Amino acid sequence: MHRCAICQNNRAQVIRPKNGQKICKNCFLEVFELEVHTTIVENNIFPSRGERVAIGASGGKDSTVLAATLKALNERYDYGVEFVLLSIDEGIHGYRDDSLETVKRNAIQYEMELCIVGYDALYGWTMDKVVEKVGRKGNCTYCGVFRRQALDRGAKRLNISHILTGHNADDIAETVLMNLLRGDLPRLGRCAEIMTASLTSPMRRSKPLKYAYEKEIVLYAHYRELDYFSTECVYSPEAFRGNARSLLKELEKIRPSSVLDIVRSGEQLVHNAVSPVKLGCEDPKRNWREERMGLVNGSQTLSDEPVNPKLLPKIVHKTRNDATYQITVRSVQQPIPSVKLKFFIFFA
Ligand SMILES: [Zn+2]
Repeated sequence: MHRCAICQNNRAQVIRPKNGQKICKNCFLEVFELEVHTTIVENNIFPSRGERVAIGASGGKDSTVLAATLKALNERYDYGVEFVLLSIDEGIHGYRDDSLETVKRNAIQYEMELCIVGYDALYGWTMDKVVEKVGRKGNCTYCGVFRRQALDRGAKRLNISHILTGHNADDIAETVLMNLLRGDLPRLGRCAEIMTASLTSPMRRSKPLKYAYEKEIVLYAHYRELDYFSTECVYSPEAFRGNARSLLKELEKIRPSSVLDIVRSGEQLVHNAVSPVKLGCEDPKRNWREERMGLVNGSQTLSDEPVNPKLLPKIVHKTRNDATYQITVRSVQQPIPSVKLKFFIFFA
C-alpha cells in the first residue's frame, strides 16, 4: 500500500497528473483548493474587498467546481467578495434548458444570487432557430462569440465589471495549440493570460482555474459530490478544437506535465510576441525601433473577437519621427463588422 506523500498517514488514492505525486483524498481536496487560492493571491484577482463578481455558470463541471471552490475559499480566507452566478441561455433545447436547472440548484446550494440572460431576449433569436436556418456547421464558434457578449451585457445589468470563467489548464493548452497551429501569435498571447481587460470595455475577465487539470476538476467534483450537468452540447463542436484536444491527450499520455507545460509556453510567448504593427511594416529597410505605440482612434480589443487581421497598412501620414498608418481588419464572422484602425508609431 502506498502512503500519502503529503500526510504520510492515509492510503494514497490519487496520482496527480502534474507531478505524479500519490496522495490521499483529504490531502487532494486540500491541495486543490490551496492551489486555486495561490493563483488568486499571486495574480491579485480580487484586489478590493466589497466587490461584486460574476461567475459565468453553465451548470457544467468547471463552473460548478469554480463556484464551490470560491465559496469555500471566500469563507476560509475572507476575500470579502460577493459572488453572483451569471448564466447564459443560448436557447438549445435538451441541453441548456436542463443545465440551467442545475445552475438554479447551485444558486441555492451556494447561497448565491443567480441571473440568467437569454439570447432570445438579447438578440431576438435562439441557437435552435439559427441552426434550423443555417445548419450545424461552425455554429460553435459563432455561439461562443455571442455568449461572450451576452456575459458582458448580463454583468453590466448587474452593475458588475468582473467576470470569472471556469477555463481550466486543458482548455487553455488546447487554445494555445490551436493558435500556434494557425500562426496566430497575438491571440495566442491573450488566451494564455489569466486576466484580460480591454481599452474599450471596463469588463475584466479572470480564470482562477487556469492551472487546474481537467482530470482533477472532475475528481474534485466527484469527491465533493457536487451537483453538475455533464451532457455535451447537442450541436457539433468546433472541429479544429477537437483536433487540438486529441493532440493534447496524446501528448499527455507520453508526458503528463504537457498540459501545464503548454500553458507556460503560451505565457512565455506573450512576452516575445511580435506586435501586429511590426508584421505590417511596409518599409523593411527602416529599422523599426518603436517603443511606444499610440492609438489615434479605434480599439485594441480585436483579439476579443474572431477576426482575421488583414494586415495591409496604408500610410496616412509620415514624418522623420513618426508615422500614421491605417489598417482594415476584416471580420471572418458576418455579424461582426469590419473595423478601421488608425495608429501611429514613434521612431525612437
Ligand atoms: Zn494525505
